[in-house]
Amino acid sequence: MKDKASAKAVRGMRKKAARVIGKMALLATVAFGTPALAQEQKTTVLTGGMLVSGLSAPPLHNATVVIRGERIVQVGPASEVQIPAGATVIDTSGQTMMPGLIDAHAHLFMLGYGNEADWFKWLKADGKKYSIEKIMELSAYQMLMSGITGAIDLGGNPVESISVRNRINKGEIPGPRLQVAGPLVTRAAFHGFPAEASAVITSPKEAAAVVDRLYAMGVDVIKAHSGLTREDYDAIVKAAHAHKIKVHAHVYDEAAVRNAFETGVDVLQHVGSAGVPAYSPELVRRIAEASRPVVLTAAHRSWIYPDTVTFPERLQDPAAKALFPADIWDAVQKSFKDWQAEGYFTYIDRQVKYRSPQVKQWIESAAVMGVGTDSGTPMNFNSDGLIREMKVLADEGLPPLQVIYDTTRVNARIMSKPDLGTIEPGKLADIIVVPGDPVYNNLTNLAYVQTVIKGGVVYKQDGKPTVPMPQ
Ligand SMILES: [Zn+2]
Ligand SMILES: [Zn+2]
Repeated sequence: MKDKASAKAVRGMRKKAARVIGKMALLATVAFGTPALAQEQKTTVLTGGMLVSGLSAPPLHNATVVIRGERIVQVGPASEVQIPAGATVIDTSGQTMMPGLIDAHAHLFMLGYGNEADWFKWLKADGKKYSIEKIMELSAYQMLMSGITGAIDLGGNPVESISVRNRINKGEIPGPRLQVAGPLVTRAAFHGFPAEASAVITSPKEAAAVVDRLYAMGVDVIKAHSGLTREDYDAIVKAAHAHKIKVHAHVYDEAAVRNAFETGVDVLQHVGSAGVPAYSPELVRRIAEASRPVVLTAAHRSWIYPDTVTFPERLQDPAAKALFPADIWDAVQKSFKDWQAEGYFTYIDRQVKYRSPQVKQWIESAAVMGVGTDSGTPMNFNSDGLIREMKVLADEGLPPLQVIYDTTRVNARIMSKPDLGTIEPGKLADIIVVPGDPVYNNLTNLAYVQTVIKGGVVYKQDGKPTVPMPQ
């Protein structure tokens, strides 16, 4: 009796356990399956090329990556990975597969026009043919086609920024995964930007109130701009951290860098382009030791200006032109007529003189470096800004694999997106394919991205977009 009873009990327990496990499996399917189902569980395989995973590991040769739905499910040598039946296979032989690039400092409401203030005047004068939102869509398209699958927009109109981010997330328009700041929090409205792109404050209390308001609107991060006091930074950081969002500070001079760092600002932006000899070694050492990320935005003036003197033809690059509607391209070309005299480059001599020591001090300190561009600013196209920034870091001595790691994994960490930045099973499938070996070529090849995949969706293949440019 006793044995029968206990056997029955065990059977009961097993049945119950089976039901629980069944339920768990169902839950797991739902949890994993929901976003993937939206992608119809499509399987795509990239095979044949070298894999730079974004991890601190040597490249894997002749590799295969299997993507199901929006995620990577398998990575390994081609000889060991079975290609699932019915998969769409993309041959990457002779090329390099790597994580999609992330820009830690972009402005999608600009397209590289020669003068920021005139750009917004042109947009208005054109009878509003192009709205700010449409310009942001265009930038998003230009970035995605250039291999940028993630970006932080650090200053723009909040309503449009949030709308574009949400529409990209819903798959309505093509573009990188975005985090947006909306307006600059500042003590002086930024000359030339639309009024909505600045949130002017006169006290720390107002600064905190602005952060609360922006958070309620739905921004992802706060951009603390210029002229702020130490007390302002303090109030902004406390308010932002109470909402669990990060603060990026626009800081050039040493006092601002110090105030932002000591009050707990999460990311120090622009610290490689200040036009000053170098920051004091003590400050750099403390920032590096604290693992506080810095984003240099080194190329946007200090390299772009002399590079354009050397090769002004870069402004007519057909690869950039192909990503513009004809009328905007014409206007942008006209805006370059007197580019050497633009106010944007007033301090270029100092910036060029000190550019190298500024970049090197961060490399030598082994600081945590994100990579960002200030793209959209004069002559800084969304299509080439990030490659130029990466190339500068490599040319100044950061090993190319480290530059890739910083642009993918570190930037993903800055975005608090652990699902991005590396090519590993379980991660979101944001992958690009570039010709040849970008490591050997000191990253030059990144300018010729052939294939772009974001969330398992192929947006560009063999050098050709698979989706049309926004009209
Ligand atoms: Zn800035
Ligand atoms: Zn900026």
